[in-house]
Amino acid sequence: MVPSASVQIVDLRSDTVTKPTPEMRRAMAEAEVGDDVFAEDPTVARLEALAAERLGKEAGLFVTSGTQGNQVSLMAHTQRGDEIILDENSHIFNYEVAGLAILSAVQARTLRSRHGILDPTEVRDAIRQPNIHYPKDTLICVENTHNRGGGTVYPLATLKEIRRIATEHGLAVHLDGARLWNACVATGIPAKEVAAQADSVTFCLSKGLGAPVGSMVTGSRDFIGRARRARKMLGGGMRQAGIIAAAGIVALESMVDRLREDHENARTLAEGLAKLPGITIDLGLVQTNIVIFDVARKDVDAPGLILRLHEHGIKAFNINDQRIRMVTHKDVDRPGIERTLQALATILK
Ligand SMILES: *Cc1c(COP(=O)(O)O)cnc(C)c1O
Repeated sequence: MVPSASVQIVDLRSDTVTKPTPEMRRAMAEAEVGDDVFAEDPTVARLEALAAERLGKEAGLFVTSGTQGNQVSLMAHTQRGDEIILDENSHIFNYEVAGLAILSAVQARTLRSRHGILDPTEVRDAIRQPNIHYPKDTLICVENTHNRGGGTVYPLATLKEIRRIATEHGLAVHLDGARLWNACVATGIPAKEVAAQADSVTFCLSKGLGAPVGSMVTGSRDFIGRARRARKMLGGGMRQAGIIAAAGIVALESMVDRLREDHENARTLAEGLAKLPGITIDLGLVQTNIVIFDVARKDVDAPGLILRLHEHGIKAFNINDQRIRMVTHKDVDRPGIERTLQALATILK
């Protein structure tokens, strides 16, 4: 059964599915633009300055995607043959098409993590002493919130400890903050304080913040200069990019605080799921807008449950045969969450 056209789809696959708001479309239509490769686009310049200011960094760079933001950051931080330390479940290691190996020619030293959160002691132990046999460790990457970890938030004290260890050993820290604003809204910790624990910070405008395209890289003026050259090499020198940057400005200025609603919806969804027969969920890991749960039933597995949900007009992804991920965002409201729970109760009764 395919849901009829009149039924509104509840799309919980990702917060990347969010559509631009009317205010964004207006800002895009009216954006003042120029050739940004010639540094002549005033709207891009305004977005880059705004991002840098919000994170307490010297400079910002508008990039096409979170992936491009991470890759140009690695290119700007490292030399060919360096080693970078990151967790085995990180986005950079798993979902960026081996870009680190191809574009930066670096080696990844992956560490186990607890739901995406690295143990500072293990990070310290992984850093190599200078030796002719060894690659040089130059960068530690952290991810906040953590995608595969289930939207988990890095404790500030842990970030500070990793930062301290990095500084002590002469390594830089890169923070993949694709969902950094979710972390800040969930904890109330100012973004500047989190960003201060890293040399470079990226975040996505196109996820929960609802912009159609784009991510930001922030860091020192020198670092951003190198990242800008790397972006050009990757074909990310965009011309009248103010058209899309305009939506990014609206995203940063007006879409951050409302992430709270997404977190509340995730919590409601998670608590409802916990009451259903054959569903296992760790409520302690539902800290932001991502809900991950396991299905342990004889009659239906995770792929089967996804298909049944689709019949009810609800979309989600399964991670494997027993695990499902749902992501809340601005285009799923409370009634959508309730419909999802009702559908699940019907299917699993
Ligand atoms: C989504 C995501 C990215 C990449 O963003 P794209 O814009 O999809 O390339 C990077 N890191 C993390 C942690 C993400 O969740």
